[in-house]
Amino acid sequence: MAAVGAVSRALAELHARLAVVDDGAVADYIPQLALADPAAFGLALVSMDGHRYTAGDALAPLTIQSVSKPFVYALALAELGLDAVTAHVGAEPSGEGFNAISLEPGTGRPANPMINAGAIVTTSLIPAADPAARFERILACLSAFAGRRLDVDEAVYASESRTGDRNRALAYLMRGAGSLAVDVEEAVDVYFRQCAVRVTAADLAVMAATLAGGGVNPVTGEPVVPELTAERVLAVMATSGMYDAAGDWLLRVGLPAKGGVSGGLIACSPARFGIAAYSPPLDAVGNPVRGVLALRELSERYALHLMHHPGAAPATVTRDVHGDGVALVIAQGPLEFTTTERLLSVLAEAVAPLPAAGGVVLDLDRVTRVDPPSAAMVREELTVLRRRGLTVAAVGEAGASVLDDPDHVFGTRKRAVAWCEQQVSAAEPPEERRRTGAAEPPEQPHW
Ligand code: GLN
Repeated sequence: MAAVGAVSRALAELHARLAVVDDGAVADYIPQLALADPAAFGLALVSMDGHRYTAGDALAPLTIQSVSKPFVYALALAELGLDAVTAHVGAEPSGEGFNAISLEPGTGRPANPMINAGAIVTTSLIPAADPAARFERILACLSAFAGRRLDVDEAVYASESRTGDRNRALAYLMRGAGSLAVDVEEAVDVYFRQCAVRVTAADLAVMAATLAGGGVNPVTGEPVVPELTAERVLAVMATSGMYDAAGDWLLRVGLPAKGGVSGGLIACSPARFGIAAYSPPLDAVGNPVRGVLALRELSERYALHLMHHPGAAPATVTRDVHGDGVALVIAQGPLEFTTTERLLSVLAEAVAPLPAAGGVVLDLDRVTRVDPPSAAMVREELTVLRRRGLTVAAVGEAGASVLDDPDHVFGTRKRAVAWCEQQVSAAEPPEERRRTGAAEPPEQPHW
């Protein structure tokens, strides 16, 4: 769905203002890339709901080049796991240029997968019967990230294949050091093809949004890589994505990003959106000048820096007393560490005045998502309460994920409360209860 409004206007305004910047130079070490129009400039943004916003030449074709690296790294992680991949390629920012000879002394292991040496090794790790099958898997993966079938710009591929001796040299060094497991020509050929995959800024924004969205393509809805894989790729992009400008980028922009020599640049705002820019002239480090400026401005304007304090989370937990001896705790929205910690402290306050055989209803019907560590925290707390003799009931699908006994999970709050009251009065007649007094107070911290 194309979208209009404030975001479109902001992109259009930014595009108009930065289009006149004419610093930087179009890469020419791959002869075919020198043919790019230095004036071409496109911006695209894709939200987690799959809304697409574009400005300028967002549909102009470019080769993906180094912007392919995080996505192929994602494929390697998803296929082989973190330990197997880091045995071959590290995760330390090299602080050097994209084509640096940045190999670990002794092992020859490249510093990270965002520089050429690391990317060549990462590509060679993708399990496949032969190089053609390996490239097909990579193309299928890049296509899933983009949400459409991509193809190769044969002229750019041929041009880099003819002239890519520095990458060959890197591959030979790594082969000699034992860190590249496949034949050099085979390794660089798949890598050159990968770099020559044709995309648009609009495609790149969908790809970035897929990483920002936990590995699920927000436009097609397809889960492309596991959530943990996406998280790890963003981490490596944050530390190494911008080559030797990575530190300054994290300081000023604060978003995981990746640039490439054809002028593509992506940045991911986790759980918010993916953004891409296309503008061929590069700065001295090899990052696209207008794209870098655009991202700097957007990050500042919309307070997107990763380390930005988001302000207090909205109140999501309330409590109530129901009849005699039954407490009610209601939560809504997503349960992650902050909201769960709040839920547990409200729960502790709510059960404190209950009689020993009282009951508590935890209504999670309006909880939208429970992350596994939060589910474990709530489950543990409910087990403790049950051990203390309290009757515990939960409401809703999220309720079922925190209570092991399905008989104590109800579809509505009313039924849960009625059941709980019944259990409580069966366990202890009201006059008895008055004499029992309050249950143990919750543990208090000592500071
Ligand atoms: N194909 C290019 C190379 O290996 C990619 C480099 C880049 O985009 N920074 O030289």
